[in-house]
Amino acid sequence: MRKPIVAGNWKMFKTKDEAVQFVEALKAITPSSDKVDTVICASPILLDAVTETAKNSDIHIGAQNMHFEKEGAFTGETSPVLLQDFGVKYVILGHSERREYFYESDEFIAKKVQAAFDHQLTPIVCVGETLDEKEAGETTQKVEGQVQAALKPLTEDQVKQTIIAYEPIWAIGTGKTATAADANEVCGAIRAKIASLYSTEVADAIRIQYGGSVKPDNMEELMSQEHIDGALVGGASLQAESFGKLLEAA
Ligand code: PGA
Repeated sequence: MRKPIVAGNWKMFKTKDEAVQFVEALKAITPSSDKVDTVICASPILLDAVTETAKNSDIHIGAQNMHFEKEGAFTGETSPVLLQDFGVKYVILGHSERREYFYESDEFIAKKVQAAFDHQLTPIVCVGETLDEKEAGETTQKVEGQVQAALKPLTEDQVKQTIIAYEPIWAIGTGKTATAADANEVCGAIRAKIASLYSTEVADAIRIQYGGSVKPDNMEELMSQEHIDGALVGGASLQAESFGKLLEAA
Protein backbone atom coordinates (compact mmCIF):
# COMPACT_ATOMS: atom_id res chain seq x y z
CA MET A 1 0.00 0.00 0.00
CA ARG A 2 1.14 3.52 -0.78
CA LYS A 3 1.46 5.85 2.20
CA PRO A 4 -0.58 9.05 1.78
CA ILE A 5 1.37 12.29 1.41
CA VAL A 6 -0.22 15.66 2.08
CA ALA A 7 1.79 18.75 1.23
CA GLY A 8 0.92 22.37 1.96
CA ASN A 9 2.07 24.90 -0.61
CA TRP A 10 2.12 28.26 1.17
CA LYS A 11 3.13 30.08 -2.02
CA MET A 12 4.15 33.70 -1.28
CA PHE A 13 2.23 33.88 2.01
CA LYS A 14 3.22 34.16 5.70
CA THR A 15 5.64 36.26 7.70
CA LYS A 16 8.31 34.58 9.81
CA ASP A 17 6.23 34.83 13.00
CA GLU A 18 3.14 33.43 11.29
CA ALA A 19 5.17 30.56 9.84
CA VAL A 20 6.69 29.60 13.19
CA GLN A 21 3.32 29.79 14.96
CA PHE A 22 1.73 27.60 12.29
CA VAL A 23 4.39 24.91 12.62
CA GLU A 24 4.12 24.99 16.45
CA ALA A 25 0.35 24.55 16.20
CA LEU A 26 0.59 21.82 13.57
CA LYS A 27 3.12 19.84 15.59
CA ALA A 28 0.45 19.16 18.20
CA ILE A 29 -1.98 17.65 15.65
CA THR A 30 0.25 16.02 13.02
CA PRO A 31 -0.41 12.30 12.57
CA SER A 32 2.52 9.94 13.00
CA SER A 33 4.74 9.65 9.92
CA ASP A 34 4.06 5.93 9.65
CA LYS A 35 0.44 6.85 8.76
CA VAL A 36 0.88 9.88 6.52
CA ASP A 37 3.75 12.01 5.25
CA THR A 38 3.18 15.64 6.21
CA VAL A 39 5.03 18.31 4.24
CA ILE A 40 5.00 22.10 4.45
CA CYS A 41 6.49 23.97 1.48
CA ALA A 42 7.55 27.48 2.40
CA SER A 43 9.26 30.45 0.77
CA PRO A 44 13.08 30.05 0.77
CA ILE A 45 13.51 32.90 3.22
CA LEU A 46 11.35 31.04 5.79
CA LEU A 47 13.09 27.69 5.46
CA ASP A 48 15.63 28.27 8.23
CA ALA A 49 12.92 29.18 10.76
CA VAL A 50 10.48 26.41 9.82
CA THR A 51 13.04 23.58 9.62
CA GLU A 52 14.27 24.66 13.07
CA THR A 53 10.72 24.74 14.50
CA ALA A 54 9.76 21.40 12.90
CA LYS A 55 12.82 19.57 14.32
CA ASN A 56 11.99 16.27 16.11
CA SER A 57 8.43 16.32 14.78
CA ASP A 58 6.60 14.41 12.04
CA ILE A 59 6.51 17.51 9.84
CA HIS A 60 8.84 17.55 6.83
CA ILE A 61 9.77 20.80 5.17
CA GLY A 62 9.81 21.43 1.44
CA ALA A 63 10.80 24.26 -0.88
CA GLN A 64 8.56 25.56 -3.67
CA ASN A 65 11.25 25.76 -6.33
CA MET A 66 15.03 25.69 -6.81
CA HIS A 67 17.69 26.00 -9.50
CA PHE A 68 19.45 22.90 -10.83
CA GLU A 69 22.98 24.29 -10.53
CA LYS A 70 24.92 23.70 -7.32
CA GLU A 71 26.28 27.25 -7.19
CA GLY A 72 27.28 30.07 -9.48
CA ALA A 73 26.29 33.44 -10.89
CA PHE A 74 22.50 32.98 -10.78
CA THR A 75 21.18 36.10 -9.07
CA GLY A 76 18.11 35.49 -6.98
CA GLU A 77 18.13 31.70 -7.27
CA THR A 78 18.24 29.03 -4.54
CA SER A 79 20.50 25.99 -4.98
CA PRO A 80 19.73 22.38 -4.08
CA VAL A 81 22.91 22.45 -1.96
CA LEU A 82 21.44 25.16 0.26
CA LEU A 83 18.11 23.35 0.58
CA GLN A 84 19.90 20.21 1.69
CA ASP A 85 22.06 22.24 4.08
CA PHE A 86 18.94 23.65 5.74
CA GLY A 87 17.39 20.21 6.32
CA VAL A 88 14.78 20.53 3.58
CA LYS A 89 13.47 17.13 2.37
CA TYR A 90 11.08 17.94 -0.51
CA VAL A 91 10.91 20.41 -3.36
CA ILE A 92 7.93 21.31 -5.54
CA LEU A 93 9.05 21.48 -9.18
CA GLY A 94 7.18 22.62 -12.27
CA HIS A 95 4.22 24.18 -10.46
CA SER A 96 1.85 25.68 -13.04
CA GLU A 97 2.54 29.17 -11.63
CA ARG A 98 6.26 28.67 -12.38
CA ARG A 99 5.52 27.28 -15.82
CA GLU A 100 3.20 30.18 -16.62
CA TYR A 101 4.76 33.27 -14.97
CA PHE A 102 8.42 32.23 -15.12
CA TYR A 103 8.35 30.35 -18.43
CA GLU A 104 9.71 27.07 -17.09
CA SER A 105 9.85 24.41 -19.80
CA ASP A 106 9.61 20.63 -19.48
CA GLU A 107 13.36 20.33 -20.23
CA PHE A 108 14.29 22.91 -17.58
CA ILE A 109 12.08 21.15 -15.00
CA ALA A 110 13.64 17.75 -15.83
CA LYS A 111 17.09 19.16 -14.98
CA LYS A 112 15.76 20.30 -11.60
CA VAL A 113 14.17 16.89 -10.95
CA GLN A 114 17.56 15.24 -11.53
CA ALA A 115 19.30 17.84 -9.33
CA ALA A 116 16.81 17.13 -6.53
CA PHE A 117 17.85 13.46 -6.44
CA ASP A 118 21.52 14.44 -6.64
CA HIS A 119 20.99 16.28 -3.34
CA GLN A 120 18.72 13.83 -1.48
CA LEU A 121 15.61 15.94 -2.05
CA THR A 122 12.31 14.32 -3.06
CA PRO A 123 10.72 16.19 -5.97
CA ILE A 124 6.97 16.88 -6.08
CA VAL A 125 6.48 17.27 -9.82
CA CYS A 126 3.38 19.23 -10.84
CA VAL A 127 1.47 18.55 -14.05
CA GLY A 128 -1.92 19.71 -15.27
CA GLU A 129 -4.01 21.05 -18.10
CA THR A 130 -5.59 24.44 -18.78
CA LEU A 131 -9.36 24.86 -19.17
CA ASP A 132 -8.96 25.16 -22.96
CA GLU A 133 -6.97 21.93 -23.10
CA LYS A 134 -9.57 20.18 -20.93
CA GLU A 135 -12.38 21.35 -23.18
CA ALA A 136 -10.47 20.23 -26.27
CA GLY A 137 -10.13 16.74 -24.76
CA GLU A 138 -6.35 17.06 -24.46
CA THR A 139 -5.95 16.46 -20.72
CA THR A 140 -4.39 12.99 -20.83
CA GLN A 141 -2.04 13.83 -23.68
CA LYS A 142 -0.86 16.98 -21.90
CA VAL A 143 -0.19 15.46 -18.48
CA GLU A 144 1.37 12.28 -19.88
CA GLY A 145 3.80 14.40 -21.91
CA GLN A 146 4.71 16.48 -18.85
CA VAL A 147 5.24 13.36 -16.72
CA GLN A 148 7.37 11.64 -19.34
CA ALA A 149 9.58 14.71 -19.83
CA ALA A 150 10.09 15.36 -16.11
CA LEU A 151 11.03 11.76 -15.29
CA LYS A 152 13.28 11.27 -18.32
CA PRO A 153 16.67 11.68 -16.59
CA LEU A 154 15.80 9.39 -13.66
CA THR A 155 16.58 5.76 -12.87
CA GLU A 156 13.63 3.44 -12.17
CA ASP A 157 14.38 3.53 -8.50
CA GLN A 158 14.27 7.35 -8.52
CA VAL A 159 10.99 7.33 -10.46
CA LYS A 160 9.47 5.18 -7.69
CA GLN A 161 10.42 7.80 -5.09
CA THR A 162 9.13 10.78 -7.08
CA ILE A 163 5.84 12.39 -6.10
CA ILE A 164 3.59 13.50 -8.98
CA ALA A 165 0.98 16.18 -8.29
CA TYR A 166 -1.86 16.29 -10.79
CA GLU A 167 -3.18 19.85 -10.61
CA PRO A 168 -5.68 20.95 -13.25
CA ILE A 169 -4.80 24.62 -13.75
CA TRP A 170 -8.45 25.67 -13.89
CA ALA A 171 -8.96 24.24 -10.38
CA ILE A 172 -6.08 26.05 -8.65
CA GLY A 173 -7.26 28.77 -6.28
CA THR A 174 -10.61 28.99 -8.08
CA GLY A 175 -12.79 26.98 -5.70
CA LYS A 176 -13.52 24.61 -8.62
CA THR A 177 -12.36 21.08 -7.86
CA ALA A 178 -12.23 18.30 -10.39
CA THR A 179 -14.78 15.66 -9.39
CA ALA A 180 -13.13 12.87 -7.45
CA ALA A 181 -13.92 10.48 -10.31
CA ASP A 182 -12.36 12.76 -12.95
CA ALA A 183 -9.27 13.38 -10.81
CA ASN A 184 -8.94 9.64 -10.26
CA GLU A 185 -9.24 8.97 -13.98
CA VAL A 186 -6.36 11.34 -14.82
CA CYS A 187 -4.21 10.01 -11.95
CA GLY A 188 -4.95 6.49 -13.22
CA ALA A 189 -3.88 7.50 -16.74
CA ILE A 190 -0.61 8.86 -15.31
CA ARG A 191 -0.04 5.57 -13.49
CA ALA A 192 -0.76 3.58 -16.66
CA LYS A 193 1.71 5.75 -18.59
CA ILE A 194 4.37 5.08 -15.95
CA ALA A 195 3.65 1.35 -16.20
CA SER A 196 4.15 1.50 -19.96
CA LEU A 197 7.37 3.54 -19.67
CA TYR A 198 8.88 1.57 -16.76
CA SER A 199 7.03 -1.35 -15.15
CA THR A 200 3.90 -2.09 -13.13
CA GLU A 201 6.12 -2.33 -10.07
CA VAL A 202 7.25 1.27 -10.56
CA ALA A 203 3.69 2.40 -11.35
CA ASP A 204 2.33 0.73 -8.22
CA ALA A 205 4.98 2.39 -6.06
CA ILE A 206 4.84 6.00 -7.29
CA ARG A 207 2.62 8.33 -5.28
CA ILE A 208 0.26 10.67 -7.12
CA GLN A 209 -1.36 13.64 -5.40
CA TYR A 210 -4.34 15.64 -6.54
CA GLY A 211 -4.19 19.44 -6.17
CA GLY A 212 -6.64 22.24 -6.94
CA SER A 213 -9.05 23.69 -4.36
CA VAL A 214 -8.65 20.77 -1.95
CA LYS A 215 -10.53 21.53 1.27
CA PRO A 216 -11.57 19.65 4.40
CA ASP A 217 -15.01 18.98 2.88
CA ASN A 218 -13.79 17.35 -0.36
CA MET A 219 -10.63 15.66 0.93
CA GLU A 220 -12.22 12.43 2.10
CA GLU A 221 -13.87 11.69 -1.22
CA LEU A 222 -10.68 12.48 -3.14
CA MET A 223 -8.63 10.26 -0.83
CA SER A 224 -11.03 7.34 -1.25
CA GLN A 225 -10.09 7.07 -4.94
CA GLU A 226 -7.85 4.24 -6.06
CA HIS A 227 -5.16 6.32 -7.76
CA ILE A 228 -5.08 9.39 -5.47
CA ASP A 229 -2.41 9.05 -2.79
CA GLY A 230 -2.56 12.48 -1.24
CA ALA A 231 -2.99 16.17 -1.91
CA LEU A 232 -1.00 19.28 -2.75
CA VAL A 233 -2.85 22.11 -1.06
CA GLY A 234 -2.60 25.88 -1.44
CA GLY A 235 -5.34 27.95 0.21
CA ALA A 236 -6.45 25.35 2.77
CA SER A 237 -2.86 24.86 3.96
CA LEU A 238 -2.59 28.39 5.35
CA GLN A 239 -4.35 27.61 8.64
CA ALA A 240 -3.04 24.87 10.90
CA GLU A 241 -6.55 23.80 11.87
CA SER A 242 -7.83 23.27 8.31
CA PHE A 243 -4.56 21.64 7.26
CA GLY A 244 -4.85 19.35 10.29
CA LYS A 245 -8.30 18.27 9.08
CA LEU A 246 -6.84 17.33 5.69
CA LEU A 247 -4.18 15.23 7.41
CA GLU A 248 -6.84 13.51 9.45
CA ALA A 249 -8.90 12.73 6.34
CA ALA A 250 -5.81 11.25 4.65
P1 PGA B 1 -5.19 25.67 -4.12
O1 PGA B 1 -3.69 25.59 -4.71
O2 PGA B 1 -5.33 24.53 -3.14
O3 PGA B 1 -5.28 27.02 -3.46
O4 PGA B 1 -6.11 25.52 -5.27
C1 PGA B 1 -3.12 24.36 -5.05
C2 PGA B 1 -1.72 24.56 -5.60
O5 PGA B 1 -1.48 25.54 -6.33
O6 PGA B 1 -0.81 23.75 -5.34
